[in-house]
Amino acid sequence: MITLSWHAFEINNVLTSLNSSTEGLTEEEAHKRLSQYGPNRLRPSKKRSSWSIFLSQFKNLLVYVLLVSAIITLITGHLVDAGVILGVIILNAVIGFIQEGKAEKALDSIREMLTSQANIQRSGKRIMISSENLVPGDIVFLQSGDKVPADLRLINVKNLRIDESSLTGESLNAEKSMLPCNEKAAIGDRNCMAYSGTLITYGQGRGIVVATGDSTEIGKINALLVLAPPMTTRLLLKMSEFTKTLTVVIGILSVTTLVFGVLIRGYSISDMFFAAVSLAVAAIPEGLPAILTITLAIGVQRMAKRNVIIRRLPSVETLGAVTVICSDKTGTLTKNEMTAKTVSTSMNDFEISGVGYETHGTFMTDGSEFSCYLLNKEKFSCDKYPDLIELARGSVLCNDTSLIKVDDKKSVQGDPTEGALIVLGIKAGLDYKSEQSKFPRLDIIPFESEHRFMATLHGRQDSKRIIYLKGAPEQVLELCSYQRSSGNNIAINKNYWKNLINRIAGKGQRTLAIAVKEVTEAHSQLKFEDVQEGMCILGLVGIIDPPSGEATSAIQKCQTAGIRVKMITGDHVLTARAVGFEMGIGDGITALSGHDLNNLKDDEIQRLVKEVDVYARVSPEHKMRLVRAIQANGDVVAMTGDGVNDAPALKQADIGIAMGRKGTEVAKEAAEMILTDDNFASIEHAVEEGRTVYDNIKKAIMFILPTNAAEAGIIIVAIALGRMLPITPVQILWVNMITAVTLALSIAFEPPEEGVMKRAPRDPKESILSPFLIWRIGFVSLILIIGTCGLFFLQRDSGVSIEISRTVAVNTLVAFEAFYLLNTRYIQDSAFTKEGIFGNGYVVAAIGLIILMQALFTYFPPMQSLFGTASLDFMKWFQIIVVASSVFFIVELEKYVLRKHFKFF
Ligand code: ATP
Repeated sequence: MITLSWHAFEINNVLTSLNSSTEGLTEEEAHKRLSQYGPNRLRPSKKRSSWSIFLSQFKNLLVYVLLVSAIITLITGHLVDAGVILGVIILNAVIGFIQEGKAEKALDSIREMLTSQANIQRSGKRIMISSENLVPGDIVFLQSGDKVPADLRLINVKNLRIDESSLTGESLNAEKSMLPCNEKAAIGDRNCMAYSGTLITYGQGRGIVVATGDSTEIGKINALLVLAPPMTTRLLLKMSEFTKTLTVVIGILSVTTLVFGVLIRGYSISDMFFAAVSLAVAAIPEGLPAILTITLAIGVQRMAKRNVIIRRLPSVETLGAVTVICSDKTGTLTKNEMTAKTVSTSMNDFEISGVGYETHGTFMTDGSEFSCYLLNKEKFSCDKYPDLIELARGSVLCNDTSLIKVDDKKSVQGDPTEGALIVLGIKAGLDYKSEQSKFPRLDIIPFESEHRFMATLHGRQDSKRIIYLKGAPEQVLELCSYQRSSGNNIAINKNYWKNLINRIAGKGQRTLAIAVKEVTEAHSQLKFEDVQEGMCILGLVGIIDPPSGEATSAIQKCQTAGIRVKMITGDHVLTARAVGFEMGIGDGITALSGHDLNNLKDDEIQRLVKEVDVYARVSPEHKMRLVRAIQANGDVVAMTGDGVNDAPALKQADIGIAMGRKGTEVAKEAAEMILTDDNFASIEHAVEEGRTVYDNIKKAIMFILPTNAAEAGIIIVAIALGRMLPITPVQILWVNMITAVTLALSIAFEPPEEGVMKRAPRDPKESILSPFLIWRIGFVSLILIIGTCGLFFLQRDSGVSIEISRTVAVNTLVAFEAFYLLNTRYIQDSAFTKEGIFGNGYVVAAIGLIILMQALFTYFPPMQSLFGTASLDFMKWFQIIVVASSVFFIVELEKYVLRKHFKFF
């Protein structure tokens, strides 16, 4: 589409140029435009072609070593060996290629889950659609926390401020207006525009889409926001560095061996070359980085299935080390199915019956029960309680939600707290839609967790105007000078209300106060000054929000796993304390409020966070102080958040967790992880998966390194003893390749260990190559060297041909690997069980495959001539199995001793 200087246009001109109106486009027109302009999506940065991914697999030190050896082998006339080496180089590239594809797929599925929604108007109706379906001419609503979904010319603003740093680099938020700007104005100065990808930090607004997809400013500079980083983490980088260093060291060692063998021991150059190549090929753990990457990819995919989207991969590792989880209460720990249960006015206390959002319910006061709504066409009168009716009116007017029916069940579109108030209004006999048209809304101060109230200005038939306000009772009381008593405003008795608040909150109910103020016709806008004084409190509402059973058991699991759960909520202290206690957080007595935190110094907070688990009436700045204090005690903190102002605390936490449903885009951008179901139980699942990924990475290292060390050891022992090599370089390549694609890979699919959530969190400072891991690698390598060399020498010394002896050696080594794989399934627990041996289908399948491959390797004539192998008889297999199975029993014995005498986790 032609790009016009929309910022210089008057709003009407924009609407006519785009053939739209403030009512929005019709669905039909939108559909037409979507096929004309295409989806509102940035063209992904050019993906690497499959060929270039395949070719990049050859850019690898091992491949260079192999290529040089292949050339030398070719020159020295060993055609078959050279062919095998080349074959292995290609196989290696194919494995790398497949693994890279798997990692890409894991990231793609995450990207798909991250697409955002836009709140728009079509044919006069407000609807939510996927941002990808936006077209020029659509009318989009914006509010604080949103990410602007396309380039918009603003047609309405209310204190709208936008963080445009992603586009302009300017860190100060831009204040927006509706007035056209100079045509030559730079992007950062175009106050009447909102650009795609920028973030709303304050206020509300409405705009018309002027550009989508690649035509947007961000599309033009092609700064595609990277939603997920490349498939790597600090640990993987460290391990790949380690592999590289190891390769260089091994290269030097191989050359030294060659020189040493030829000059000192007098071996022939071709013999020693053969040995040096074997050593290099044997010792380099070429498959390791790929296996680790795929372990991580599988972990990330498994988390996605359990409602956790990982935005930054290093957090997968950090998850396993989390010691404290700070969680919001509403909707994360509780069900977010709100029902108003108590209403108190200055004259009466009412108990309300009814479940969830069902609109049938009665009021009970002073022992009598009555209902106000139409029942069997008969209207029950509540006129006796005018204050209750006025409170109910305030509740439905100062409200942005509506009730809808889904599958015959009532549900809320919008904020559940407000949904409960709509239901209260209906129970009090009000038809909320007709109330809303009788008292049309003229202006609004939206709810923000900083000021904890919402206010609306309404017109009235008698030409007066009226303000309704609802919010956290302590806040509302500050603004009130009057209270309503049988329809009259009288001086407020704050103590009465304070006691009432404590009583309702003490029952674990969420408390809200409703207030009102009449103003003159001169008021057409609502400002903060208008509600700062002279408000009249109508009463209090107590809302229940049942704790989620799933979250309660997840809290318990976290506690067993040595993770402390803290509740950090905007709700009242008494409500938080009661709900926390019911769910197993805190002792039901201690709690700190935002007010308390204001009066404490940082070091005092640092001391108190060790004991207190419930924090209430906290604002986002308090969250930041709390995270810092907890971290100062050496803890690793995961923290949830959903609002715009939670972003700094989410960034500060070791793992910031944003809510997928109720979270703002700003919070999601700042977070490491997103919960698609907003549920605390998913955090616990993520920790479990995080611990499992770390375990599996450890297991892969623990499995692969002994193979390489043993192979290198076998060569060194043979040279030192002046014997023939038990395994040739091509046979070593075979072992490495075959074990990498089958045995080692199956570890990546290892499910969580049974005790994974019963042990304490990992020490974040602990190195992955821990003394225990080094011990295990060394100890197992030794068994493999002794077993393989021993059996090989035994064959040779009893006059068996070199081909058969080497076939025995290779099969022994591979069988050792297969048995050791079973040991590795559990790092410390016994694998000597049915579950240990058959529990992972991938492991069983991999071992089955290995048996088949080794049979071909041993008996299939073309393989025999390629690899220099020979057929084995039953006795040889018997010897191989007896020797190789020893590793299984010895390692299980080692685990048993370590379990008994050392606590090595
Ligand atoms: P959490 O951080 O656990 O999600 P929360 O959702 O209870 O806590 P806020 O949303 O900040 O925290 O709400 C704090 C208080 O503000 C509530 O206890 C209630 O009194 C009041 N409140 C909540 N929602 C609204 C609303 N839509 N309008 C007016 N007041 C509200």
